[in-house]
Amino acid sequence: MATLKKKGISSSLQHISMQNIKVVVRVRPITHNEEEQNVKNIVKCLTHKEILMKEKKYSFDRVFKPTASQIELYINVVAPLIKDVISGYNCTVFAYGQTGTGKTYTMTGDKCSIIKNWKEDEDAGIIPRAAHHLFHELDRMKINQYTIKVSYIELYNEEIRDLLSNDENALQLYNDSKGLKINGLNEVTCFNSADVCRELQRGILKRQVAPTLMNHQSSRSHTVFTISLSTTESNLAGEDILKYGKINLVDLAGSENIAKAGCKDLRAQELANINKSLLTLGRVIQSLADKNQKHIPYRDSKLTRILQDSLGGNTKTVIIATVSPAHTSHEETANTLEYAMRARDIKNTPVANEQ
Ligand code: ADP
Repeated sequence: MATLKKKGISSSLQHISMQNIKVVVRVRPITHNEEEQNVKNIVKCLTHKEILMKEKKYSFDRVFKPTASQIELYINVVAPLIKDVISGYNCTVFAYGQTGTGKTYTMTGDKCSIIKNWKEDEDAGIIPRAAHHLFHELDRMKINQYTIKVSYIELYNEEIRDLLSNDENALQLYNDSKGLKINGLNEVTCFNSADVCRELQRGILKRQVAPTLMNHQSSRSHTVFTISLSTTESNLAGEDILKYGKINLVDLAGSENIAKAGCKDLRAQELANINKSLLTLGRVIQSLADKNQKHIPYRDSKLTRILQDSLGGNTKTVIIATVSPAHTSHEETANTLEYAMRARDIKNTPVANEQ
């Protein structure tokens, strides 16, 4: 009879060779509107890793030009994480940037494209591609015993809403023996990538029609779409090895909200809360990068509390900073590039989840 065995940490470490955090920049194309207004292009992609704006050079793990396709970004940035999820790691991909720079385009694709076949749809974003890739990879690796679940939350004004539930009430966090959990969160079991895309579509629709949207815009909330995987594999000794991994795909609130301190159309509390999450995320990532820093301020915002098990130590993180090339956005673009530069270089050693 099969017995249960813990996954060997040393073998999983051999598997991991990449850095723990990657920061990439994607420059969106100039829009038709901007073209008509004779907007100047002030961002130049010098190489695959360097970008020049107003005579200042920035370097990142990768820079994607305005002509870069969705599949090019996916293959270079997210595809390597899928093997890590199957190996039992927690991974997070953030889209960070000013509203209108392509965060949602990058994460989900153009809204109408989600329900189509992603292979034929060049606009499909990271979430449908990751779903398809994960099922495909499990099949290729001949892993038959697995469960895939998805959840989708929106974080607005430090309140958590479940985008896959009809309930409008805010969800609360609680601690159980395995760590922080979201009370009552709907986690939907999916049997193929079409199921995942259907849940994504459902969540997007709920976000669009929600009554709370009367007084807020999506640019002021964060969304976290999580695909979690548990697998059972037998080793040569007939022992069952259980592994858990997940990928969080996070579309952050527009980064311009950080700078809108004196803006009249935002209520003070709302602004403070958006700032809190984005600023705390930046501080958490910087603290993780600093080997001498013992205290990581996860608890300072809901977003970092929710993602605590997916940032630092046992994890892989990618930040995709999206920017506009237009001279009219130069201040925001500079802020985004500076934030992204500060986020580079987390040096924790990853360790796989085990049971
Ligand atoms: P954000 O989520 O940052 O507010 P969106 O994803 O809504 O921005 O993008 C704004 C517009 O720009 C959308 O119409 C989107 O289709 C388009 N867009 C953004 N990035 C790209 C890109 N890399 N290539 C083509 N169109 C893009």
